[in-house]
Amino acid sequence: MKNNNIIKAKKKFGQNFLKDASVLDKIIQSMPHNNNHIVEIGPGLGDLTQKLVKYKDTTAYEVDTDLISILKSKFAIEIHNKRFELIHTDVLEAWDNKGSLHSQKYDLIANLPYYIATNIILRAFEDKNCENIIVMIQKEVAQKFTAKVNDKEYSSLSIITELISKESRILFDVPPESFDPPPKVISSILYVSKNMDVELDKNFLKFLKACFIQPRKKLFKNLTSTIDKELLSNIYSELNLKETLRPHEVSASLYSQMYTKVVNGKQRD
Ligand code: SAM
Repeated sequence: MKNNNIIKAKKKFGQNFLKDASVLDKIIQSMPHNNNHIVEIGPGLGDLTQKLVKYKDTTAYEVDTDLISILKSKFAIEIHNKRFELIHTDVLEAWDNKGSLHSQKYDLIANLPYYIATNIILRAFEDKNCENIIVMIQKEVAQKFTAKVNDKEYSSLSIITELISKESRILFDVPPESFDPPPKVISSILYVSKNMDVELDKNFLKFLKACFIQPRKKLFKNLTSTIDKELLSNIYSELNLKETLRPHEVSASLYSQMYTKVVNGKQRD
C-alpha cells in the first residue's frame, strides 16, 4: 500500500501513514456517541481526517509544513464551511500556550507520532476539556497504559490511567503492513474514557516515577531516595504494608493513599 502523494514520509516527525481502509473504518466505528468536538493530532495526508469530518466538526494539529499545503487543498471546502480547522503547530507547544486543545469538550482521535505518544496522552489526561481518547500507538506502550496490578507491564502509566479513567482498554491491534511506510512494531488502538471529576496532580506522577525507579527492587528502597525513612516507615505501618512489597504489587488506590500521606507528612515537617 503506497501513498499516492509525492511526499516522502519524514522519520523525525514519526510519519507512518495509515492506508488500510478497514482499520480506518474500525476506528470510526469505535468513536463515542456524544456531541463532543473532535481533535486530531497529526492528520498527515488526511485519510483518517476525511472520515472524521464526515461525522463531526474537527480540529487538527499538524507540525509538518509540507503536509499543511496538501491538507489545505484537500479540505478547502470543509475549512471554508468551518467543519474543519487546521492548526499548523507542534501540538505540545499548543498545549503549553493554550492549556487545552479546544475550548469545549472534545474527544482525541488520532494515529499518533510514536516518538511523543506517551507525552501526548499524559497531556490529554491533564487537559480538562478532553473526555475520550482513541489513539493508535505502539502496542507495548498501550499495554503499559492498560496493565493491571501484578501484570508484568504494570507501571506508573497504568496507575495514572486507572485513577483518571472510567474505562480503559486496548480495542484492537494493527499490523505494520497497514501503514506506509510500515513501522517496525505492532500497533494498538488505546481507548480511555476519562472520569471528568478527577484532576491529575503533576507531583503524583513524579511520586510514581520514584516508586518505579528500579521496578524489580523493593518499593520501600525506591522511595527512601526521595522520602524520609521515618515518615515512610510510619506510612507503611498505617497502611499495613509489608516492607518486602515490589512496585508492581501495589494497587492504584493504595498508591493514591500513600501519596496523600506523603504530602500530609511532608507538610507537617
Ligand atoms: N493521521 C495520519 C495517518 O493516520 O496516516 C498520520 C499519522 S503519522 C503516524 C503522525 C503524524 O503526526 C504526522 O502527520 C506527523 O507529521 C505529525 N506530527 C509529528 N509530530 C507532531 C507534533 N509535535 N505536533 C503535531 N503533529 C505532529
